[in-house]
Amino acid sequence: MALDEFEIVRRWFRDGPAAAGVTLGIGDDAALLRPPPGQELAVSTDALLEGRHFPATLRPGEIGYRCLAVNLSDLAAMGAQPRWFLLSLSLPRAEADWLDSFAAGLFEVAREFGVGLVGGDLSRAPLGVCVTVLGTVPRGRAMRRTGARPGDWVCVTGTLGDAARALRLETCPGETERGRAALHERLARPRPRVHEALLLRDKASSCIDISDGLAADLRHLLEASGVGAFLNAEQLPLSPALRASCPRTEALQLAAGGGDDYELCFTLPPARWTTLDPELRRACTRIGEVEAAPGLRWRDSGRTFQPRAEGFRHFTSRGAPPPGDS
Ligand code: ADP
Ligand code: MG
Repeated sequence: MALDEFEIVRRWFRDGPAAAGVTLGIGDDAALLRPPPGQELAVSTDALLEGRHFPATLRPGEIGYRCLAVNLSDLAAMGAQPRWFLLSLSLPRAEADWLDSFAAGLFEVAREFGVGLVGGDLSRAPLGVCVTVLGTVPRGRAMRRTGARPGDWVCVTGTLGDAARALRLETCPGETERGRAALHERLARPRPRVHEALLLRDKASSCIDISDGLAADLRHLLEASGVGAFLNAEQLPLSPALRASCPRTEALQLAAGGGDDYELCFTLPPARWTTLDPELRRACTRIGEVEAAPGLRWRDSGRTFQPRAEGFRHFTSRGAPPPGDS
């Protein structure tokens, strides 16, 4: 049977995991949602287009996983509890196998983080996915980019540079590396730091998620806060897989400038470090300190260090971006 858009929604998208607070879900002209009393909505949207935001080699299940995961990362940066999402899907053809895998990846993330699909849109067009996420946060308590103060520590969750390394491996076929699967996992299935973010809320003075690269994204945070920072490259957290995959200087470059990690970068008054949840503390690394003077200053074991690339800009960067840069 030919798959029209109503059939596609009915077969693949209508019966995903349920979420609380949905008065009316998929099927009418709009969804009706009930945020808990005393909370405000945090809303964010991100498009993923083939060749621009992800390589054509990414599998449909990975696209489904990634499109929701990267949106949840934006909610995490605000300290919001993810609740619902909308999906705008452009497909060149309606293929059952593709839709099976895509929906499996999508709903794996939805189930894990308890978010419900409440609506969307379908078009026949080159492959592209646009997700809008809605989360809730107690009124006035969202984390922002604006609260960093001189003397605060600069910290990050997890490890950096793995996804950027995985992209380079993909463009150099034939190169076999130990830990290649672990690196690819970071690119294809980024883990949004939702749980960590909820523990950081009310503690961090500012927060941003790292999508374009630490140097580029931290710069946004510092500018928003009207401050600068000093960073120690030797303290950048590197995964064993990344260390095994390239020389140290290259690993540091990828950690400082490479994108697609979806870790959180936050600032914290030093006295609050010991008040953080112990498990959260184990997942975080202090990499530098906020200073009054604007700009970002790097050191690597006392020597100067300059990150190579500082984030791709769609409208001003030259030439085509490596897919995966956003
Ligand atoms: P309309 O024409 O009124 O905009 P549609 O025909 O596009 O509505 O969609 C019908 C219903 O199916 C709506 O509730 C819409 O939110 C839902 N829907 C459409 N596409 C998707 C999708 N990709 N995922 C989830 N729900 C969808
Ligand atoms: Mg309508």
